[in-house]
Amino acid sequence: MFLKRLDVVGFKSFAERIGVEFVPGVTAVVGPNGSGKSNIIDAIRWVLGEQSAKSLRGGKMEDIIFAGSDSRKALNFAEVTLTLDNEEHFLPLDYQEISVTRRVFRSGDSEFFINKQPCRLKDIIDLFLDSGLGKEAFSIISQGKVEEILSSKPEERRSIFEEAAGVLKYKNRKKKAEHK
Ligand code: ATP
Ligand code: MG
Repeated sequence: MFLKRLDVVGFKSFAERIGVEFVPGVTAVVGPNGSGKSNIIDAIRWVLGEQSAKSLRGGKMEDIIFAGSDSRKALNFAEVTLTLDNEEHFLPLDYQEISVTRRVFRSGDSEFFINKQPCRLKDIIDLFLDSGLGKEAFSIISQGKVEEILSSKPEERRSIFEEAAGVLKYKNRKKKAEHK
């Protein structure tokens, strides 16, 4: 499984519809300060189901919608589509290619799609559960996370490694079973 393409419109600084192709060999995104590099990561986090505005560096969810600039007026919705290669059927859906789309309107209404079919947010979260790509996974390591790992106590660091290794859910299940 790998990221093939990201399509964004109305998300943060991207007023214009943009498409980023992650062709083989693309390993980095570079650009001046404030040009939107981190906004690309935020868009990926968001389409994968992020629900915390703070994790997306905003105060409220509406902050992710293009707020307007000197030359352009604000937009009323934000939309992100992430397309993944699934030729090896790493994700549990019988498609060679999977696209997930999330759209939010200023009214607060949201829409979600898997391969253009309307779905619930939960379906998207479930699709990526245990894939290593979900919003709780370590495929995206923010600046704050590095700091957290370096400055945490050994026990806290252990739980970060357990989560990364995928054993935390078994430990949680065991704990639950023991308390029954
Ligand atoms: P750096 O190198 O400093 O980390 P960067 O390339 O990561 O920069 P981003 O943080 O991705 O930059 O982009 C920040 C820009 O996005 C700011 O100019 C900010 O005004 C703009 N921005 C964020 N949210 C919105 C929004 N809702 N509408 C319009 N612009 C926005
Ligand atoms: Mg940045």
